[in-house]
Amino acid sequence: MAEHPDLIVIGAGAAGLAAAAALGRAGLSVLVLEARDRIGGRMWTRLEPGLAAPIELGAEFIHGDSPQTLELLRQAGAAALDTAGEHWSLIAGRLQRRTDSALGQVRAALAAAGVLSQPDTSLESFLESGRGRALPEEARAMARAFVSGFDAADPRLVSLHAVAAEWRSGGMLDSSQSRPSGGYRTALRSLAAALDPARVRVQLQTVVTAVDWSGGAAAIEAEWLGQPYGTSARGAIVTVPLEVLKAPAEGRGAIRFTPPIESKRPALDLILTGPVLKVVLRFRRRPWEEWDGGRHADASFFHAPGAVFPTFWTALPLRAPLLSAWVGGPAAARLCALGDDEIVREALDCVETLFPGGNLRAELECAHLHNWSRDPFARAAYSYVAVGGGRARELLAAPLAGTLFFAGEATDTTGEHATVTGALRSGARAAMEAIGHLGGRRRG
Ligand SMILES: Cc1cc2nc3c(=O)[nH]c(=O)nc-3n(C[C@H](O)[C@H](O)[C@H](O)COP(=O)(O)OP(=O)(O)OC[C@H]3O[C@@H](n4cnc5c(N)ncnc54)[C@H](O)[C@@H]3O)c2cc1C
Repeated sequence: MAEHPDLIVIGAGAAGLAAAAALGRAGLSVLVLEARDRIGGRMWTRLEPGLAAPIELGAEFIHGDSPQTLELLRQAGAAALDTAGEHWSLIAGRLQRRTDSALGQVRAALAAAGVLSQPDTSLESFLESGRGRALPEEARAMARAFVSGFDAADPRLVSLHAVAAEWRSGGMLDSSQSRPSGGYRTALRSLAAALDPARVRVQLQTVVTAVDWSGGAAAIEAEWLGQPYGTSARGAIVTVPLEVLKAPAEGRGAIRFTPPIESKRPALDLILTGPVLKVVLRFRRRPWEEWDGGRHADASFFHAPGAVFPTFWTALPLRAPLLSAWVGGPAAARLCALGDDEIVREALDCVETLFPGGNLRAELECAHLHNWSRDPFARAAYSYVAVGGGRARELLAAPLAGTLFFAGEATDTTGEHATVTGALRSGARAAMEAIGHLGGRRRG
């Protein structure tokens, strides 16, 4: 491999690895610099002895078709496992089978109001407008809960246009949801195997601190295993998470650009990120399957509206003794400031609300969680667009001077942002842009 590669890729998550694989295939030499001691970024699977299901600390589901993710699984000889199962909601103190008709009412109201052809506003403003107030309170509450829980977004800030586009009939909400068998580490294995060892090198524990792109090339300063490290290439693909890109220069993981990437400022202001917390609780048995005469034996989701953790899911179709507790958006922000033990305690309190008197605490074997908001190389869960940010992702993704290229879930413009698929697509797109600019100028 050349001492100075053609391209440097910053970050070895889904976007960075997809970009590096495409560049290697095009015959370019690539150095991937990754701050952590592992690849995968916000994909992080743990396997535990005696447990049939993987424990996902980050990405877990495949939303919709996601051909890129399915192709990675196919290459690894793995499949996607459909999560279809029952949804049960805690209503008036008792778990009841849930239908999503309330959210359907909001979707219909958004479509009827033709919000996409009107100036953008926030979801909360719509819900407080005449048309929003005409909706049943349950529907309005569910819309807020969905945007917070699924998109990690603040209903007061999130773009109504973005929400309406996401909730359009035939869109993401109507598509299936599955999980990679063996977890996302299976997809990660295929991503790593796609890196041509003759052309692509991944260097872990290398925290990039500065990128000087003033001279039509990318000069990198970093800390490698705690020591100063520098290298350069004809260009760089930046795939660090949005909040890392926004972080003040002195922050851990932050990158100082010379010259500053001022043209990205409007995009950085209009794309926001939200927190989520997922606590994976491992029990000795699966007591929820026996609860209340076995009525919930086929439950894949439990909902506890208004609770600290309002959503839980099982590992179905795998019968594993795991319950994952989930909260996203503004409600997660307070929890993210707590210590891990306290967060787990809160999750267990909510489990006891779902199954009062079930004493599930006594059955707990262990709990897993990763607080991504406090992780310096993530600083949040994933991105959403603020009011008026319709073109912000395109702006963020746009290359600078044929030298700096941008990838990562926040730059996805295909409607798959905040997902692994979106990150993969953005990496492939940025690689094509870089090949377009640099392809003919390969270093020997
Ligand atoms: C809890 C949680 C649950 C999720 N659930 C799902 C789900 O079910 N399905 C789904 O599709 N998506 C899900 N996502 C989102 C998905 O994980 C991300 O969209 C995707 O993994 C992002 O990939 P990326 O390459 O853009 O960023 P990342 O995976 O974050 O990769 C960026 C890389 O850059 C590195 N880096 C940061 N700073 C520096 C630096 N200064 N120098 C060098 N390297 C640096 C980071 O360490 C990281 O490895 C979830 C995310 C979270 C947090």
